[in-house]
Amino acid sequence: MEALSKRIQSLSESETLAMTKKSRELKAQGFDVINLSIGEPDFFTPNYIKEAAKKAIDENYSFYTPVSGYQDLREAICKKLKRDNNLDYTADQIVVSTGAKQSIANAVLALVNPGEEVIVPAPYWVSYREIVKLAEAKSVYVNATVENDFKVTPQQLRDAITPKTKLIMYSSPCNPTGSVYTKDELEAIAIMLKEFPNIYIIADEIYEKINFSGEPHASMAQFDFIKDRVITVNGISKGYAMTGWRLGYIAAPKFIAQACDKLQGQFTSGTNSITQRATITAMLEETDDIEKMVIEFKKRRDHVINMLKEIPGLTINVPQGAFYIFPKVNHYFGKTDGKTVINNCTDLAMYLINDANVALVQGDAFGDADCIRISYATSIEILTEAINRLKKSLAKLK
Ligand code: PMP
Ligand code: GLU
Repeated sequence: MEALSKRIQSLSESETLAMTKKSRELKAQGFDVINLSIGEPDFFTPNYIKEAAKKAIDENYSFYTPVSGYQDLREAICKKLKRDNNLDYTADQIVVSTGAKQSIANAVLALVNPGEEVIVPAPYWVSYREIVKLAEAKSVYVNATVENDFKVTPQQLRDAITPKTKLIMYSSPCNPTGSVYTKDELEAIAIMLKEFPNIYIIADEIYEKINFSGEPHASMAQFDFIKDRVITVNGISKGYAMTGWRLGYIAAPKFIAQACDKLQGQFTSGTNSITQRATITAMLEETDDIEKMVIEFKKRRDHVINMLKEIPGLTINVPQGAFYIFPKVNHYFGKTDGKTVINNCTDLAMYLINDANVALVQGDAFGDADCIRISYATSIEILTEAINRLKKSLAKLK
């Protein structure tokens, strides 16, 4: 539509959400679709958090909230950051938003001018690219591949830096690859960035809790010499199985927190009051619910990897976190089942949803067109059925 702004015309739809929409539509038409395209835990929110929400309703938490979130919530987040990550923040450095997605958008829009560059290690999460576009800035991709466990090196990042570089934005554990940067790897990047004092870092740690590496989660902000340039992003969607509750947050230098508060105050205001009260409980109470979830995710990862190893032509690594596997599938490009020719990863994703009724997301949505993303955030039974179907459909491609 011509009437729409150039900004919205140049914006792409989120491919993860588009695939999920397609799989819902096919399901509504009666197809038995297995949706492995959305990154969302299939677990229910733990009961102790739900009880806190019910109490908040009864206590009439029904009014507008402070833009950056209730004071006691921001204090609870500070306690969590100290307890889990050994990071020291004060409540005025925390901004609570309607999901980590908004937290990232706030931080990018608060920091980046039109024409400036944002370095994004690829594969990256789909929305990074589009949020940078909304800021009228340019994403500069630094490519990692399955062969190097989908991690970039300080040298690769250094090579991408120009006088226009404003920000580096990454996730660890990573969506879509599940890769986890170790403390040493992050430190090497931080040391390299010492030389570039005008570059900020968005460290997206939303998958922090879903880490099978056996090592504690490593935050970029732990390195004191760079902490005043780091925006740590986290939230409740993944670690606490609360995707629909919509709450994320940043911990950042005060001037960035203030800028995000100003932006959010003109856009959405404070997020949902009930969710905020429930999140105080999520931040402060430690139970074994999360641990149980993580043990189950690890079992699923191992199961899916064992099954995928049986399928010829897939190159996979063993991801140490999140709930995604990102196999290289280019072996199938140029092949056909006699009806459909697979030219690229989008063709393959379309073929698999139509032939196997399994929804995955094409890798180019995440900046690697040789791969496809499988979310294993569902039961072992469903995963077994899905991978068997994928195997059958892929075997037809000659
Ligand atoms: N960052 C990454 C890497 C993600 O995968 C997601 C999942 N949607 C988000 C941020 C946003 O999470 P939410 O808005 O649900 O808090
Ligand atoms: N982060 C999830 C995913 O990558 C949720 C969908 C989205 O918000 O993009 O599938």
